[in-house]
Amino acid sequence: MPQWVQDEIQSQRLSLNYKELEETGRNIIESISAGTSRASSFLDSDVDTDQLIRISAFLGFFAILACWEIFAPRRTTQTNKSTRWINNLAMSMTNTLVLRTMFLSGVFGVAVLAETYEWGILNSIIWPGWSEILVAIIVLDFVVYGQHVLFHTLPILWCLHKVHHSDIELDVTTGVRFHPGEIVISMLIKIGTVLVIGASPESVLIFEVLLNAMAMFNHSNIRIPLQIDAGLRWMVVTPDMHRVHHSVITEESNRNYGFNLPWWDRIFGTYQAQPSLGHDHMTIGLERFREPAQLTFTSLLTLPFVEERVIQQPDQRALDHIAQGSKTRQDEKTVKTNEQVLTTKCSSVTLSP
Ligand SMILES: [Zn+2]
Repeated sequence: MPQWVQDEIQSQRLSLNYKELEETGRNIIESISAGTSRASSFLDSDVDTDQLIRISAFLGFFAILACWEIFAPRRTTQTNKSTRWINNLAMSMTNTLVLRTMFLSGVFGVAVLAETYEWGILNSIIWPGWSEILVAIIVLDFVVYGQHVLFHTLPILWCLHKVHHSDIELDVTTGVRFHPGEIVISMLIKIGTVLVIGASPESVLIFEVLLNAMAMFNHSNIRIPLQIDAGLRWMVVTPDMHRVHHSVITEESNRNYGFNLPWWDRIFGTYQAQPSLGHDHMTIGLERFREPAQLTFTSLLTLPFVEERVIQQPDQRALDHIAQGSKTRQDEKTVKTNEQVLTTKCSSVTLSP
């Protein structure tokens, strides 16, 4: 074949490849801009609706539980309720402000993007009916359980989470009392989870509303008949179940981590049915932080940097041995450990309480 013919063929090939490339590039750009405009129109309309649903649900559940606490309280409270409510609600409002400033449309907006671009495991499978929403909610709830365990296990995270545990009574407002640092970390974990599993905006909205409502429910000081509670706690975390987690005794506060579903505690062996001293006689909160001056709104913001004393469950066997005059060296050591003052290691900065 003459050289000029070969050159012509090569030139045609190049031209064809170039045209194909140009066509492909144009398609990619068009699909990206279509996706982006779809995502942005979703965000404009759905995010506003998302906020409206969340705020309405919050106010509705809050009002119901607050009335329930007045007419059928579980424990008699001695502390000043109005001061606690002002502090707890101020923390909640601060958190809303921080989240809106840092994350704009939050985890819901991320779910809209994940759905638009088909990111995540759930978006790569076709699910029948509501099963996708159900799976997403269960996975998200498991992540929240794991996150809660981490907040108790890692000293740096406990420093933030202890603000929630420093409430010396439990009621509906404790469910929204979290340090802004914890809320930001929690939001990042949720965003990561939504991106990995590809949770739909509907499932994220339902989960967020449920989590918020359940947090208020299981912290509330409401009386539920014991038989109903016994059945209910197989499906949801009840106030009696979660109250164990707020005991001043460390061994009890390392139980019942669940927020929505009670199954994770039963599966992973962190379930405790009732507080050892009973609901009326148990002490709620942290031993180190009980003075009103330590629990003002501004003190709560700096609480992560304040040292904490941790008390442990007295070892009854060791105490019995000592009482019977048959104590061993180990018994003495155990009792000494119980009385030992342990401090958190989250910061070298220590503020005076
Ligand atoms: Zn906790």
